[in-house]
Amino acid sequence: MSNRDRIYLSSPHMGGLEQQYIAEAFETNWIAPLGKNVDAFESEVANYLGCGGAVALSSGTAAIHLSLILLGVEKDDIVFCSSLTFVASANPILYQGAIPVFIDSEPDSWNMSPEALERAFKTYADKGKKPKAVVIVNLYGQSADYDRLKKICDYYEVPIVEDAAESLGATYGKQMSGTLGKFGILSFNGNKIITTSGGGMLVSDDLEALSRARHYATQAREKAIHYQHEDVGFNYRLSNVLAGIGRGQLRVLDERIQQKREIFEKYSYELSGIDGIQFMPEKSFGKSTRWLTTMIIDPEIIGTSVSDLIGYLGKDNIESRPVWKPLHLQPLFKDAVYYAHEGGLDISKILFEKGVCLPSGTNMSVDEQSFVINQMKAFFR
Ligand SMILES: *Cc1c(COP(=O)(O)O)cnc(C)c1O
Repeated sequence: MSNRDRIYLSSPHMGGLEQQYIAEAFETNWIAPLGKNVDAFESEVANYLGCGGAVALSSGTAAIHLSLILLGVEKDDIVFCSSLTFVASANPILYQGAIPVFIDSEPDSWNMSPEALERAFKTYADKGKKPKAVVIVNLYGQSADYDRLKKICDYYEVPIVEDAAESLGATYGKQMSGTLGKFGILSFNGNKIITTSGGGMLVSDDLEALSRARHYATQAREKAIHYQHEDVGFNYRLSNVLAGIGRGQLRVLDERIQQKREIFEKYSYELSGIDGIQFMPEKSFGKSTRWLTTMIIDPEIIGTSVSDLIGYLGKDNIESRPVWKPLHLQPLFKDAVYYAHEGGLDISKILFEKGVCLPSGTNMSVDEQSFVINQMKAFFR
């Protein structure tokens, strides 16, 4: 192991204003879930995204769970979901006892393949069935192709849950990522572009649904002097202290996006010339935040594998990781049905086998990034 400080994929990066908002919570003794920071954080995020409203929650996973409940997903219902993603996108489907069906990626955005989605809908329609919801994930800072995906979902009249945990601040056309489905979900986990150490948000234009989400997220307590309950509820609200961190972080979000994109530009400028390397493409339909710089390496041209590269960088205390292992390849989902892109090509599997995520933290110094790049050049030589 080298003596260098570890260079992380993406670590928390405070802007400086966070402690001011936290101090306010302490001064007013609002060390509780809910309070002024929570209300303000919700309206500030809704304003930033240009959507009707937002509910601050304890995690992005909780936001996905509540959106499925709001859409009436119950035991044995079918839910379509992107396969190339973090397990949190699909775990809430299992919480509801519903059945996930996984949809492949398209090669040029790495996000859900409209071809595979259409085939899945048709196959189920032929059996007289359709899913209750489609969970569409925006990977590594880039939106999926909603015009095409939404057209298919609208045709079958099935609502979209947009998992924008990795794409806060990205755009699709003129719209902000997170506002393209019936519900959007955000995450403020420690590795995301902005963080509250842990937290999430549910966003929508449907204010009535958001008010039901607040109800479910606070143990589904009914209006009464005593404790009255009619539904199963959850303890899913964000604390007022953590919402203070979120408010400070939101103030530097645009700066972080700029920095993430510069980190990508530098990798791309320095490494694109190497034969057998290809960075994640950015589609012209929107702007990616480049939350993580990711690339695929072709072992046949490079003569070595992703795991060799990760091991090589690890010796110098540099963190790099494979691209998400697709959920249809996980033992947890071994019985799940899967629809590949087209022509028998399993795109998400190929991206997993060839893909690698590079250190992309906005608090990484210029010298540190140069060091990573030099080590990579040495490896590819
Ligand atoms: C991080 C992440 C989540 C989950 O968010 P948490 O706040 O950690 O629960 C969901 N989906 C994707 C794609 C993520 O990357």
